[in-house]
Amino acid sequence: MGKEHKVLIMRCDKYDAAKIAGIVKEGMQHLGVTPSGRILLKPNVVLAHPEVFPYAFTRKEFLDGVISATKAQAQDVDEIAVGERSGITVATRSNFKLAGYPEVIKKHKIKVHYFDEVKQVPVSISGAEVLRNRLFVPQPVAECDFLINLPKFNAHPWSRLTLSLKNFIGIQDDRHRLVDHNQFLEHKIADLQAVIQPKFIAIDAIRAGQRMMLTPTPFDMGAIVMGTNSCAVDTVGCHMVNVDPHDLIHLRFASQRGFGPMELEQIDVGGDFPLTEMQAKTRNFEFCLERIDDYFGAESNLSCTVGSFPEKHSADYCWGGCPGALQEAMHIFRGFYPHVHKEMGRIRYVVGKVEEPLDLADGERVIFAGSCTSWEGEIAGKDVQIESSYKTASEVDETRTQSNDMLMKFLGAQWHALRNRSSRYIHVPGCPLSVAQHVNYLASMAKIGNPILDPRLLIPVNIAYYQMRFKRFVNSLGG
Ligand code: SF4
Repeated sequence: MGKEHKVLIMRCDKYDAAKIAGIVKEGMQHLGVTPSGRILLKPNVVLAHPEVFPYAFTRKEFLDGVISATKAQAQDVDEIAVGERSGITVATRSNFKLAGYPEVIKKHKIKVHYFDEVKQVPVSISGAEVLRNRLFVPQPVAECDFLINLPKFNAHPWSRLTLSLKNFIGIQDDRHRLVDHNQFLEHKIADLQAVIQPKFIAIDAIRAGQRMMLTPTPFDMGAIVMGTNSCAVDTVGCHMVNVDPHDLIHLRFASQRGFGPMELEQIDVGGDFPLTEMQAKTRNFEFCLERIDDYFGAESNLSCTVGSFPEKHSADYCWGGCPGALQEAMHIFRGFYPHVHKEMGRIRYVVGKVEEPLDLADGERVIFAGSCTSWEGEIAGKDVQIESSYKTASEVDETRTQSNDMLMKFLGAQWHALRNRSSRYIHVPGCPLSVAQHVNYLASMAKIGNPILDPRLLIPVNIAYYQMRFKRFVNSLGG
């Protein structure tokens, strides 16, 4: 079997921009990488804050080092830019600032493209397995010649690991990002490879993240992983933490569609950090691919009733949608209020098609979450009927999607909860319900402080939000 693809695992034990630049430059030379034309660097800045979200994102020193290496190696450059769309509806410029990116961007005099502020353009994709024939991406993504992917090496509660392939979820703005972010998430990740594939990948695995996506616990992995093919890099990434690549469903889908290999025998693994040494080091690396049924524990005031789900390929659980968003939301609350699970009001979270009685405790309130949820029974002496309004992928028109605006989601949840303040239950449709919606509804229904109103976030996040809205409006006026 030929080894067409090469992946390097290089030692790097600290966030030193000069050291990272040297390692990445050496990696580029070894892999024969010469960036040119419109060069776009795509880090992972899903969420950033030096105190409350310190481990979720590609570090500024890493970005700094890769830009230096890119400048040293590039030829015939038209533009070097960094672009990203952060998660949970927070304006990307806010997270860039909290991640310390502006000083790096200024130092290197490169451009920045906040994907939530630029035009979104349709790109046609084809193939027997594609979920839809058209995807919307930010204009700078559609127009770039050389995409450099800079993921953070993190575990992920929806899809086990987020490496090169999964990092592409951040090339879509919220309006399009949440389309198919449900039982079809793994298909969607494979579809995004049909839009564009990176020509160089460097994973920030210096300090990796375990368990959660937004609030990972740090793991000193001490490495930089480099390659030129996402499937090859992700395959090696799986082996680095003793995961069978076949268990990374989006990798399997992407490889089956011809985007790259997923067998180690097909990959030339090099670098100065032997794979076997890494595997020994990560023996206790923690994941969180746990269902929510018992996840929060008997001590918690939050309990979950999980039913069945509409799509046959994953009828027993929805890995890509609401349940994982609930886990992320609760971990965000814990970052602000460590004992939230005991201090919050009693909540039963119901998701999917549930056919059994809920057996609620006194005063326990119910959140029926998501469009696919259905239930019939009695709550506080009243007949209640929750009906599913789920639509499968082919029934969802990607050109007529909701904006998923941060402020609208916050106000919408406040108003919805206020109208139902004397009710023991609320039904929140959406497929998926985003992490931000979970935060907003849990805050209202369980009487917890909303992190978005925390003084550490309130002012910077809101200033960035209004700047983003203004820039988006200005950019929409352009041709
Ligand atoms: S509504 Fe939520 S749980 Fe149901 S299919 Fe959609 S994303 Fe999954």
